[in-house]
Amino acid sequence: MRSARCLSIIITVSTLTRQAPRLLDGIRLSHIGDFRNKGYCFGNLNKSITTQLKLTTGATTGKNPTLETIHEGSVRMEQHPEYEETIKQIKAAGFEIRISNEAYVDVKEVVDLNGNVLRVEKVLYVQENMRYLDLEHEFGHIKQLQRFGNTIPPTHRMVERSDGSLKNAPNQQGVLTTWQNTITEYHNRLDEFIRLYERGASLELLKEHAQGVELWLQAYRKKGLKDGYSQTQKQWSQNYFPDIHELQSRYFDIVKVLE
Ligand SMILES: [Zn+2]
Repeated sequence: MRSARCLSIIITVSTLTRQAPRLLDGIRLSHIGDFRNKGYCFGNLNKSITTQLKLTTGATTGKNPTLETIHEGSVRMEQHPEYEETIKQIKAAGFEIRISNEAYVDVKEVVDLNGNVLRVEKVLYVQENMRYLDLEHEFGHIKQLQRFGNTIPPTHRMVERSDGSLKNAPNQQGVLTTWQNTITEYHNRLDEFIRLYERGASLELLKEHAQGVELWLQAYRKKGLKDGYSQTQKQWSQNYFPDIHELQSRYFDIVKVLE
């Protein structure tokens, strides 16, 4: 779950200039070569594509409070009436909140030199003045993690040395993988889109989010399910996100008539 919000992903685009099937205006997905995780949400993108993706996926600065911006959630989060309550729930879920220039959920597992888990540090990074709906998106990831019970995949694992400093653990088994990230993000995007639609968000906002959903749909199919060739990955998706197909069909029904 990072791009200015969510599971962090690094997308390396080998070139954007070659001919590629056009998925969305200005976004050519077939050159997404590699995803690497950094946190729940999507971020650290290759610069050439970052600008384009930010238009469709990122947490952005919220608007001034009006009846409409508060209703749809595009208002600055701090000025939304539910802000304090949402923050309270995030903290109650065990997450510390820190200000950053990106919004994403970070789950850091710290182990000793023998690999025993010492602690798990759960942090939600938020941008100041981002939209309330972006906070809801991140909260969506936190809710998703509750599906894993005691087996939440950390976003990274670090070893604590005797002097207290940290380094990357040699064993990263069980850490959120790229393909798991794409399934999780796609699920959260679908859920978010439907939530915004049901509350009567503006067409502009829905279209922005639909672009993000379409992007993650491609990533989900290609990386998440290996174009259907991986039974293991399909099974993982089925185990943790059995509602993804239902959400997807609702999403398709909505976008068909979205004008
Ligand atoms: Zn996300």
